[in-house]
Amino acid sequence: MNVREISELRPDERAAIFERDAGVEAVRDDVREIVDRVHEEGDVAIREYSEEFDDVSVGNLDVTDAAERAVDEIDDDVREAIETAAANVRAFHERQVPDDWREDFDGRDLGRRFTAVERAGVYVPGGTAAYPSSALMGVIPAKVAGVDHVAVATPPAEELNAVTLAAIEIAGADAVYQVGGAQGIAALAYGTETVDRVQTVVGPGNRWVTAAKAEVRGDVEIDFLAGPSEVAVLADGTADPDLVAADLVAQAEHDTHASVVAVTDDPDLAEAVAEAVETQVPGREREETIRGALDTDESGVFLARSMSEAVLFVEEYAAEHLTIVADEDEALLDRIDSAGSVFLGPYSPVAAGDYASGPNHVLPTGGGARRYGGLSVDTFLRSTTVQRLDESALGDLSETITTLAEAEGLEAHAESVRKRFED
Ligand code: NAD
Repeated sequence: MNVREISELRPDERAAIFERDAGVEAVRDDVREIVDRVHEEGDVAIREYSEEFDDVSVGNLDVTDAAERAVDEIDDDVREAIETAAANVRAFHERQVPDDWREDFDGRDLGRRFTAVERAGVYVPGGTAAYPSSALMGVIPAKVAGVDHVAVATPPAEELNAVTLAAIEIAGADAVYQVGGAQGIAALAYGTETVDRVQTVVGPGNRWVTAAKAEVRGDVEIDFLAGPSEVAVLADGTADPDLVAADLVAQAEHDTHASVVAVTDDPDLAEAVAEAVETQVPGREREETIRGALDTDESGVFLARSMSEAVLFVEEYAAEHLTIVADEDEALLDRIDSAGSVFLGPYSPVAAGDYASGPNHVLPTGGGARRYGGLSVDTFLRSTTVQRLDESALGDLSETITTLAEAEGLEAHAESVRKRFED
């Protein structure tokens, strides 16, 4: 892994780092065709795409029963780990549930109440790795929000991953379908003979999944585009280079399109991290994937002339995961607004949040953190405002309302207020 100086980066190099689209745009046309065919032809199209992309001849698309059985089939220690993680994720998300409220504003009784969508679809990825953790992260917030029917789509296989199925069941899903990629997103968004249509589709996935979510957005709600994973580690000279490298390698393990950066103002740390990465990669089970992610223009160790320059870089990067390992970590955190999830200190590896500490791991990638946050209970909620004005409250406002209504040329609006005060 190379060390590059931030001040020496050319504009095109900065653009590659900050505007990473992880190959999503390149597959948009192919994905549009897949989505349209599933919309028009339903299960037939799903089966054909499963043969083509997953090399699986799918029998029953509905595997809800298999998920129920999987809970008893997996090892006890794995089931206990899923249950511990699920409890922590549930507790963190229960803390997010907003209270309905009504309050008096000078005679105007105003309020806001929250109701969950009735039907939500959760994509649980599972192509090149199994992601039982993503099942917990997608399904639990929906159930905590009060969604009545949560349907999961996950890639097909000759033999489905029992741990993923068990996690889907433990998280509380109501239906499970084996359909992956863009066809899985389209099935949830439009429904097929087997798959019931939902109102909101959430969950992470590879570039086909992400492009499909962009495609169906508008016909259904989506959470946001959660593509291949990213981490930025902001470190000063106090950081342990081995641990920084371990977090970079861990994130690179996800996908050849993953992006990993370390940013520091300490030249020795920068060199030590780059070297530690090289020693940690050989022999890893997913070495090829890791190398694919590391050998890109977006990934690398970046040397800043000061911590301020490092902070600006990280803020512009808007990482899905931001790890801060520095003496003044809380002060640095105060200076950063754009990050999906922040991990502070040497004992908060991203892996803790990936699996078990509680916060959600479905987070905005590709710079999305500049505009929105990660998956949460809110994703599944609608808010409705409520108002009741009594005679005197409306009287107090009548002139304001009628003046504005007439200024807009909406005379009937003004009249609807005046009428209430005629004898
Ligand atoms: P996936 O389930 O996202 O994708 C597998 C599907 O991709 C297959 O079922 C297949 O239908 C489709 N596909 C594969 N090749 C295709 C092709 N050539 N044309 C059309 N469709 C094709 O699983 P994955 O591939 O392992 O990727 C998982 C992704 O999810 C990784 O990028 C990982 O980083 C990401 N992830 C992100 C988060 C997050 O919170 N952001 C969490 C977990 C995983």
